[in-house]
Amino acid sequence: MAETETYDFIVVGAGSAGCVLADRLSASGRFRVLLLEAGGEDKHLWIHIPIGYGKLFTDARVNWLYQSAPEPELNNRAIMQPRGKVLGGCSSINGLLYVRGQRQDFDHWRQLGNVGWSYEDVLPYFKKSEAQARGADEFHGAGGPLAVADQVEPHEVCEAFIRAAQEIGIPRNDDFNGASQEGAGYFQTTMRNGRRWSTARAYLKRARARANLTVATHALTERVLLEGGIAVGVAYRQQGRTISARVRGEVILAAGAFGSPQILQLSGLGPAALLRQHGISVLRDIPGVGADLQDHLQARFLYRVTRPITLNDVVNRFDRKMWAGLRYVLFRKGPLAVSAGYAGGFFRTDPRLESPDVQAHVLLFSADKPGGSLHSWPGMTASICQLRPESRGWIRIKSANPSEAPEIRLNYLSTEGDKRTMVQGLQLLRRIMGAPALKPYVAEERDPGPSVSTDADLLTFVRARGTTIFHPTSSCRMGIDEAAVVDPELRVKGVGRLRLADASVMPTVVSGNTNAATIMIGEKASDLILRDAELIRTRATAA
Ligand SMILES: Cc1cc2nc3c(=O)[nH]c(=O)nc-3n(C[C@H](O)[C@H](O)[C@H](O)COP(=O)(O)OP(=O)(O)OC[C@H]3O[C@@H](n4cnc5c(N)ncnc54)[C@H](O)[C@@H]3O)c2cc1C
Repeated sequence: MAETETYDFIVVGAGSAGCVLADRLSASGRFRVLLLEAGGEDKHLWIHIPIGYGKLFTDARVNWLYQSAPEPELNNRAIMQPRGKVLGGCSSINGLLYVRGQRQDFDHWRQLGNVGWSYEDVLPYFKKSEAQARGADEFHGAGGPLAVADQVEPHEVCEAFIRAAQEIGIPRNDDFNGASQEGAGYFQTTMRNGRRWSTARAYLKRARARANLTVATHALTERVLLEGGIAVGVAYRQQGRTISARVRGEVILAAGAFGSPQILQLSGLGPAALLRQHGISVLRDIPGVGADLQDHLQARFLYRVTRPITLNDVVNRFDRKMWAGLRYVLFRKGPLAVSAGYAGGFFRTDPRLESPDVQAHVLLFSADKPGGSLHSWPGMTASICQLRPESRGWIRIKSANPSEAPEIRLNYLSTEGDKRTMVQGLQLLRRIMGAPALKPYVAEERDPGPSVSTDADLLTFVRARGTTIFHPTSSCRMGIDEAAVVDPELRVKGVGRLRLADASVMPTVVSGNTNAATIMIGEKASDLILRDAELIRTRATAA
């Protein structure tokens, strides 16, 4: 095994959290940082043009293209699980929506014993990361690196959706990340001047100018090197060679909800029986590694729209396509500058709930599946996802080979509560879509169509067509209970100098899209790591 030099910090994975860590840990210039990324540079044109995200679902150059194991409650279908494999990770291929989750999510994390993770604790980190185009206020920051902006222009169908929601008693909400999440409105996006603002763009670009940061791409981390229960480096594979990099300070895994538990298991840190089954020496039996995986399941209704005002109508006509391209090039506006979800909302399926339990996304295009070809007719999509699923799944290595994808099983819909919430959410969405304000726009519900109307019918529809909205989390959960993998300071329990900082540590999935909360985790983790490094330095100087 070839050896490289010794670093103060090694960060594994240049995704939403990893790029934040690389930037913040290298900022002072005092620490040598190595950032390892299995994917390549973020050069792909469609990464940077917002609507291009639809083209990245199936592109192996930037995507791991995982598939789940057959899902028992979804008619044994394997569900596509795209993950970014490129600088920026999923923040380079995601739908660009900027949604943090609810105050109650973080207060719940705190209630579980995670000191330092209540809403009041994490709000400063959301604000620190944010360059809010509307300016700073009680809930938003304007001086951070992550561009957050309004949709480039309103759209008549989105306006009608918001009015339709109001007609059935749901308020308009112009800021899902403000005082209250509830209501219908436009999503804000991680975008500036019509360009995607991934964490590679926001954080890594500026950090790469520093001599104390080394970024290695096409570098697949195979395992963490441990001596006497302490992380001393990592082994990674690059250009056919296995290389070991040593660390003086800490190894921080930020390889995502699938990647981080996989690396831990390959390193001998995980459920003992699973590791033995694959011939891996058990360095520490940690049953929680890969357990408690969560995700948001979504079900989508497809509609034929009365007039050719959707993206379908743009991509299917040469002259409109040219015009859209021109508008984008000249003004950074039009359909190419649109994020996945345009408008949407957060609703309560039961008025007795304290906060919304479902999220709706309105997309001004329609296709048979995410990333599929758009229909030839004017079409739109409206979807529901349940925000706080009870179902739990797992990540388990299938062999000791780091290049083999792990088994990914979400166990979607495995509780009665999850089934009920999805069905009630869809019934609510139907009421909005049938309200007077949308009548001039909605010609018909094409899929599943009005014959699917009872709760039982809708459940059958979800089983047949439900899919992920790409928010896997919690596979190396933070907590103070026995089964938790990391403590509230994100240190892997019982292992020295090893932390995790990505979506895998969320105690429970947040009630919303997961990019913003993962970036917040990267910000907070950086502070925790730098504080500890400072303490060690001070002690060493004093001694
Ligand atoms: C198609 C899609 C659409 C989405 N839409 C939205 C949205 O609109 N809004 C939103 O908020 N969220 C969205 N999400 C979710 C959100 O982007 C993710 O939750 C978030 O980016 C996760 O960040 P992370 O740091 O945990 O992992 P990632 O961003 O996935 O980063 C992990 C990085 O580690 C690398 N890696 C993994 N294993 C290894 C290894 N062994 N060695 C080296 N490197 C490794 C990966 O290549 C990757 O770059 C979407 C996700 C997808 C896939």
